[in-house]
Amino acid sequence: MPEGFLMPPDTALPHTAEAAQPGRVQILNGRFDKLSMDQTVEELIQAVRTGERGILSTVNVAILMMMRSSPRLQRFIDASRWTVADGQPLVWASHLWQQPLPERVAGIDLIDRLCARAVQEGIGVYFLGAESDIVRSAVGILQARHRGLDVRGYADGYFRPDQAPARAQAVAESGAGLLFVAMGVPRQEHFIEEQWDNLGAQVVVGVGGSLDVIAGRRKRAPAFVQRAGLEWAYRLAQEPRRLFRRYLVTNSQFLGLISWSAIAQVSRARRAAPRP
Ligand code: UDP
Repeated sequence: MPEGFLMPPDTALPHTAEAAQPGRVQILNGRFDKLSMDQTVEELIQAVRTGERGILSTVNVAILMMMRSSPRLQRFIDASRWTVADGQPLVWASHLWQQPLPERVAGIDLIDRLCARAVQEGIGVYFLGAESDIVRSAVGILQARHRGLDVRGYADGYFRPDQAPARAQAVAESGAGLLFVAMGVPRQEHFIEEQWDNLGAQVVVGVGGSLDVIAGRRKRAPAFVQRAGLEWAYRLAQEPRRLFRRYLVTNSQFLGLISWSAIAQVSRARRAAPRP
């Protein structure tokens, strides 16, 4: 684990003492796979083809901070087969500590990329989450974009806990190899964790509010805003009342922790430098 990412002592979580898995980059309390978008897509498609099962988690700054106060979410993400950085600030942070992540891998982009490959490979897909008219409309849009997309089924994400097994069973019975769960964080993670044994699908990807964006309910920030690391500000402008507290807390916490790590790194380097 790169020293710069050691946690401030008073905020350390038990798992942070473990070494990062090989090939992964540790950023504060998250471990990210050094995968480009292309590599991520190919790994997932390969997993479906070979029958290997796994979960992919896309983590942004807000989720990384949420994980710190939720051991359950932290454990889930740590145990995911793949974890990718869904935010430019995380990619910058990886560069700061000379452990560069190749690029941002956003959940919403993954949906399109995976659908395109699913068509080529004849892999069935399933969408679970969002309101029923939203998921229906998003599926229609994706089928129009990706001719021949084999949508094995879709369902909204509003159900009682006792209905979850039936939702999972419907996915399994559909024979879909790829499942997108779009119920927001940490709702979707709890569902996947609880129903993992019943889901059947080889690869499961949590995609948060992506179906709202595909269906046109929410707007996505323009590419230059994303590159500037300001996607959160764009979302905040759309829903200021609901998101103000969330982003204020998570952004300041992230900035504070990254600065703390940078200062600790510099002072360690100074102490280690040979005295004249
Ligand atoms: N959602 C869902 N089931 C629920 C609550 C939310 O499927 O019980 C969907 C919601 O319709 C939206 C997505 O999850 O498409 C993200 O929800 P929200 O905006 O609340 O999450 P956030 O983006 O704030 O994390």
